[in-house]
Amino acid sequence: MKRLLSSFIMLFGFMASANAQDGCTIKSPDGNIAVSFTVTNGKPEYSVTLGGKTFIKPSPMGLKTNIGDFSAGMSTGEISQSKVSETYSLRNIKQSTVNYTANAATIDLTKDGSKRLTVEFRVSDRDVAYRYTVHPVKDTRVCTIDGEASSFVLPDGTTTFLCPQAKPMNGFARTSPSYETPYTVDDAAGKNGWGNGYTFPCLFREGEDGWVLISETGTDGNYVGCRLINNGGTNYQIGFPQPEEMNGFSSTSAMVSLPARTPWRTITLGSSLKNIVETTAPFDLTEQKYAPSQQYTYGKGSWSWIIGMDPSCNYDEQKRYIDFSAAMGYQSVLIDAFWDSAIGYDKIAELARYGKSKGVGIFLWYNSNGPWNDAPQTPIGKMNNPRIRRAEMKWMHDNGIRGIKVDFFGGDKQPMMQLYEDILADANDFGLLVIFHGCTLPRGWEKMYPNYAASEAVLASENLHFGQGACDNEAFNACLHPFIRNTVGSMDFGGSALNKFYNADNQHGSIRRTSDVFALATAVLFQSAVQHFALAPNNLTDAPSWAIEFMKNVPTTWDETKFIDGYPGKYVIIARRSGSKWFIAGVNAQKEPVKLTLTLPMFAANSAARLYSDDPQLVGSVKNVKINKKQQLLITIPCNGGMVVTE
Ligand code: CA
Repeated sequence: MKRLLSSFIMLFGFMASANAQDGCTIKSPDGNIAVSFTVTNGKPEYSVTLGGKTFIKPSPMGLKTNIGDFSAGMSTGEISQSKVSETYSLRNIKQSTVNYTANAATIDLTKDGSKRLTVEFRVSDRDVAYRYTVHPVKDTRVCTIDGEASSFVLPDGTTTFLCPQAKPMNGFARTSPSYETPYTVDDAAGKNGWGNGYTFPCLFREGEDGWVLISETGTDGNYVGCRLINNGGTNYQIGFPQPEEMNGFSSTSAMVSLPARTPWRTITLGSSLKNIVETTAPFDLTEQKYAPSQQYTYGKGSWSWIIGMDPSCNYDEQKRYIDFSAAMGYQSVLIDAFWDSAIGYDKIAELARYGKSKGVGIFLWYNSNGPWNDAPQTPIGKMNNPRIRRAEMKWMHDNGIRGIKVDFFGGDKQPMMQLYEDILADANDFGLLVIFHGCTLPRGWEKMYPNYAASEAVLASENLHFGQGACDNEAFNACLHPFIRNTVGSMDFGGSALNKFYNADNQHGSIRRTSDVFALATAVLFQSAVQHFALAPNNLTDAPSWAIEFMKNVPTTWDETKFIDGYPGKYVIIARRSGSKWFIAGVNAQKEPVKLTLTLPMFAANSAARLYSDDPQLVGSVKNVKINKKQQLLITIPCNGGMVVTE
């Protein structure tokens, strides 16, 4: 009888929302998150609560197109609610198998008596997402989408953890924006970055109530890459690309066929940072766009450029790095810019054969240009043209090249988003993995494109080489990425250096401030299925043997990820599982050491564990420790230090 009653109430609940005139409420499966949708004076809006507390205040929705303004003068049409449940497996994200369960709502919006827009909501136990469908009316089969009213009005007192969108056609060789700007943390709301808003994802703290991460997913060649613009106070709105991107060429609008679906707007929320670190929203909401031409395998590699820069791009040095990767048991070397002139195609083919004999594949660097910026590095003019690109990729395929790294893209306008997709699709035809640098944020691409490996879209390890300031701030930034950039997509950071100096002689240049254990910990904290570490052949003899052994064996693919503790910019501790083996990794950026009693339910009571840790002078060691009967372990991480616990 009790069961009968509850099903009756559920049915009643559905009928009640279906009969509502101007809105509905969608709750998460656990009932904690509630989204309210209404149309007020013709304007669609939504709000979000968690545990009854407001996380998103009533916020505008809708689209502006050249066939009508669908953010005003709207009426609610048919509303239906349903449940979504999907189990999927991905080897290249933070969790290998995901069970996604959400409640969904589909809300039609009419204008002047015609159905013009449908809003779809998905509400899971940690994420809210919505997207739009624009409908054809009569013979109208195409339109431009010129902007979104989509906004996120946060509660008063919200603080921000954001990085600004760069001004276009600025920076090195006029290559910005490329999502390589510094974060400001614990900052007041109401600013607008450097005047151009903020890059996704955007993290906000709502006082003691919790955290919100706003981003987008599912963006492909049918749309533009978006950002957040501050409209004053705590009101943030979706912004389209800046007119000056791509040297001013091409519209900032999206050009679409109807019906057209937009990418998803995603809101991850929680009372702690757990949901932020563990979210799989970018992948829950997207679908594979083409079948893999082969089963792609990921793995580790080495990369001479980060220590040796352009002079290291020669045949002998690349051969030495192939030998180094082989000694480490790594799957690849990445050969950076100017290989076409400094080594040449025939000698690259020879290196590929040599690498194959040692079980080491080659990734080759390419310039994405094209006419969108001044980046002079070669090979150039190969990736922007489909005929030349496919011929180049056929040469790579015939010579056993493992993948490509394409750099210096031109912003977020639709032709650029199409170029990412076209490079990926063509590379799949030739069995190549793809890494992007100088690029936009990946938006669900691990699931959409099976040969996608990783993107930079962060102030990556190159800055550690370029200047001491980045080295001085390395720990601060490492304590941000697991909560922000890296939680929504694979991050090609290229770090974990064991050199003391960012220089081939290991005696000059930027000084590494962080410890060896810090380097090991970031190999776990920074997630990317393909990793090219900043290790150098000399590390085989000048780095501690326990550090080299760890770097030989650290996985790059994970079955599970758990937030343990931390605060953005201060310290972070995350647990990742590979097979049956857990790695609990942490780093600290604060002056004072982090001293914590970690509760580690993944370890049995009274079991043995290996602890990599630093002394106060950042001298690392590894020792056997015992997890106590309460499954706890006391750890200390000094400033710029790290720790890793494994079985
Ligand atoms: Ca870069």
